[in-house]
Amino acid sequence: MKDMIEDHLVAAEPWYRPVADEVALFQAAYAARMPVMLKGPTGCGKTRFVEHMAWRLGKPLVTVACNEDMTASDLVGRFLLDANGTRWQDGPLAFAARHGAICYLDEVVEARQDTTVAIHPLTDGRRVLPLEKKGELLKAHPDFHLVISYNPGYQSLMKDLKQSTKQRFGALDFAWPEAAAEVEIVAHEAGVSEDTAQKLVEIGARARNLKGHGLDEGVSTRMLVHAGQLIAQGVAPVAACTMAITRPITDDMDMRDALDAAVATFF
Ligand code: ADP
Repeated sequence: MKDMIEDHLVAAEPWYRPVADEVALFQAAYAARMPVMLKGPTGCGKTRFVEHMAWRLGKPLVTVACNEDMTASDLVGRFLLDANGTRWQDGPLAFAARHGAICYLDEVVEARQDTTVAIHPLTDGRRVLPLEKKGELLKAHPDFHLVISYNPGYQSLMKDLKQSTKQRFGALDFAWPEAAAEVEIVAHEAGVSEDTAQKLVEIGARARNLKGHGLDEGVSTRMLVHAGQLIAQGVAPVAACTMAITRPITDDMDMRDALDAAVATFF
């Protein structure tokens, strides 16, 4: 099936609760075609934010979840064999650059080093993508914009973005939203009352205090939304928190006890 750029337009508004001035900053960066890096832990709204911004700007969005097996060809493109011989197929990055989409590379640091080098010529004044195998120097469409996400918490010395890559981007920090905003988000996304959302957010805050004392990563807004969704389905709140928060996040028995105690305080 042929990938059509129109299919990447975001039709309905993705609901996004701004937490600071990120909407205006992103708009300015887009106007300047400055590549943007969204930094922050998993589940704190980065993907939702990009979807919302693509909708606001009326541009198609091409999202790529990067993984360690990903090579530059996966992003850029390759020749495919078909009945008529070989045919070039743009990878998602080339597709976005050719048609003027916003290209969101989620967790780009996971991909192999050659992929980050492939994005370099697109992120400076050249705005080109060399399709070496095809012998084409693809000039990016004027509307093309590159966005990457990056979780500083995961990075090790072996896996980090090079300075030469980082310095090509403007960065927006995403952290856990402050309590009032997170209550609004959980209530809206899960369809639970403000009172229930408030309790979930307080459980989240307690759990986040355990980060570094045995929890590698804090409880995400996504997990709180999941717990709320189970409650909205009629699951008892304690069981909902167990399934959506305490069991997924840790296998450590002491930590589970500590999290269960936090849940019991509120439900
Ligand atoms: P990330 O890309 O940072 O891993 P997501 O954007 O997928 O995280 O966010 C996870 C979920 O949390 C979303 O599906 C949404 O329900 C909720 N969420 C988090 N922050 C916000 C926000 N500011 N506005 C609206 N929804 C949010």
